[in-house]
This record gives sequence, structure tokens and C-alpha cells, in this order.
Amino acid sequence: MTDTTISATLIATLNRQLQRAGRHGFYRRLWGQSKVEITQSDDFARIPMVPYGAFAEDAHQIDPPRGSFFGRDVVRINLTPSSKGLRPIYFSAHDLVSLRRANAELLRRAGVTEDDVAITTLSYSLLPAGLMIQDAFEELGAKIIPVGPGETERTVALMRDWKVSVIYGNPSYAMRLHEAGAPPIRVLIAGGEPFSAIPGYKDAVRDALGSQIVLIESYGLAEAGTVARECRHQRGLHVAVDYAHLEVIDPASGEPLPRGEVGEIVVTHLDKEIMPLVRYRTGDLGVLDHVDCPCGRTLTLVGGIRGRADAMRKVKGVKLYPAQIRQLLDQDDTTRGRAFRLQVSDGGSTQQLSLILEGPPLADGALADLRTRFRKEVLIIPNDIRYEAVLPPGAIWLDDAQR
Ligand SMILES: [Zn+2]
Repeated sequence: MTDTTISATLIATLNRQLQRAGRHGFYRRLWGQSKVEITQSDDFARIPMVPYGAFAEDAHQIDPPRGSFFGRDVVRINLTPSSKGLRPIYFSAHDLVSLRRANAELLRRAGVTEDDVAITTLSYSLLPAGLMIQDAFEELGAKIIPVGPGETERTVALMRDWKVSVIYGNPSYAMRLHEAGAPPIRVLIAGGEPFSAIPGYKDAVRDALGSQIVLIESYGLAEAGTVARECRHQRGLHVAVDYAHLEVIDPASGEPLPRGEVGEIVVTHLDKEIMPLVRYRTGDLGVLDHVDCPCGRTLTLVGGIRGRADAMRKVKGVKLYPAQIRQLLDQDDTTRGRAFRLQVSDGGSTQQLSLILEGPPLADGALADLRTRFRKEVLIIPNDIRYEAVLPPGAIWLDDAQR
């Protein structure tokens, strides 16, 4: 029995979900049949995955313009941009209840209470986020003003009058509100833009908004809703385990990986009638593990989102993720925050890995430490390490940039 084995209760829940999914043309086409049932974990791992980005677009193609999932029970129609236009995200009345409950629980763990007055500065128009967040705060019993983006002066005045303590929205906009004279807030739940993935950004926001502020990161997709969020103890992103089943797979082979290993996150809804995701490949990298947190022992995306799966390269038989190198560099003062590039070249019969670091050359001791960290954590050591005074923004893999 591996530690990713799923319980009998979860198998029953997944079977209910598979039955719901089989009613839709999208899954009948993907599976080649309408009825899929599982009796053990291995059965689930054999169900065909939905490729990244394909869900809303492929569903649209089956029966345009409303797509394969439209039906009588739809009550909310959100729209999300795809490369070919706006595509619908549907919810039944039941779906909205399960989503708001799951999100309210994540907000509660983040430290939001009935005494808080919140605003969200994300859009209420077309996209799923605004209304989804509104619902979640109401479910929790907190107070929320549906502010939306823009109108900075009016928003600052509202924040003063209503003693707003929580903002759900873009951290960059929260900083703008602060500069425009907004009173201090207690909790900022980041959304709408990359946050901790940008080195130094979280610290900059904390410096601007005050050291006491609780900064919360969430993980979600338009197709999935929010599926994980940090709690106020910041031990990683706790998964909404009643709402979504998360797997981590090897992006190359598609095989599920054991707990604690980095791989691509795959999402399955556990209580969604319309537009349910079954094994949707997100393209995002993460590590799943159970974490003991003061808020409870929970399955958690440890260390948050670790970059994109499509940035992975195999070098000398070892899978190398740029995000892994970032973490390794950030472990030591001599390399923390330095920009870098990776380059693979054929040095005769074997591949050569080069690391190009921004900034001054490392002293011998620091260089030896860096090599040790490479050997321990990514199993291979760069054949050479070069330095550039300044690295312009661009792809991490140097040959990608040149292509
Ligand atoms: Zn926690």
C-alpha cells in the first residue's frame, strides 16, 4: 500500500463524480465510453487525463457556442478567455453551494472571521472570481462589500468608513490603495496576479502594508475554482479536500508520484455536477504531503506552486526544473535572489550543463557549497558555472531564448 492510496470513502465520492462526468459529451468522447467506475486507486490512475488548456476549448468545440456542458441545471454562466475567445464556465445551484462552502472553510483557516469587513477588488464582470469570493465570505458569515477594480479614491473612503480589515485582490492594487491613504488592513488574500512566485514581491508588499499583515496565497484555476490556500500559519497551501482531489504526476510519463515528490498537479472535482474536472492536468508543478499545522493535519501543497511543468528538461537522464534551481540558489546568502540561466550542450558523447549566474563570481567556499547543494538536491552538478554582470529578463533555458 503506497501513501497515495485512496480511501474507500474517496473511491465512492470519485465514482459519484465519474457518473456525473459521464453524462457529458466531453467525457464520453475522452473516455470512449460513458460509464467509468473504479474499485481501487490504480483504476483511477488509468483514467485518461484532460490535457492542460484543452477543457473549456474542447467542450466548446463539441457543441458551439454553448458547449458540451450546457444544460437545464446551469444557473451561473461565467466566461473565461481562451486563445480563441471567451469560453463558458458553468455552475449548477448545487455546484455554487459546494464551491462556497469549500472556499469559506479556506477563508476561516486563513484567519477571516465574522467580525471582519472585507472588500474584493477583483472583477465581478464575466470572470468567475468576484462572485465566487463574494459567496465565500457570505457563507463564512463575514461582511463583504462588492467593490471590484478601479475607483481608487472611493474605495479608500469605503475602507475608512467601514473599517475594512480584509482585502481579496491584486497585491499591487492593495499597495496602490495604501499609497492613496487607505487605512491598514489585517489580512490580504492575494489573487489576480503572480505573488510569491516573483522573488522579493511578498517582502515588498509586507514592507509597504506593515509587518503585522497576514499575507495569504491561494491556488486555483478558472476551470477549477480555488482548490488550495495558505492558512495564517503559512505551512503551505492546504487543499480543499472535500472539494477537489489533487494528484501529482510525472509530467513525462503521466504516472502518479509518491507524496513529497515534485511533479505536475492534476485536479479532480469531488462535488461538481456541471463542468466537473476529472484528472485535469494543470501544467503547474507542486509537492503534495500531509502537514501538521496548528489549524489541523491537512494534505498540503508544500512550498506552494513551483513553476511550470513545461519548463522541465531532462539532462543526463535527470529531470531538471528551473524552479528547483531557484529554490536551491535561494538557500544561501551568496546566491539568494540572483537571476540565472541554464544551458545544455552536447560535449561530445555526453551532455554538458552550464549555469550562468548574475552578479560577481562566487568565492571558492561558496562555490563548493553550491556544488554540494546541486549534488544533493538535483543529483547532477553543472559542468561549468559562468557569470554575467546583468541578465535581461527571458527564458531560463538559454537555448530556448535563442531559438
Ligand atoms: Zn494551517
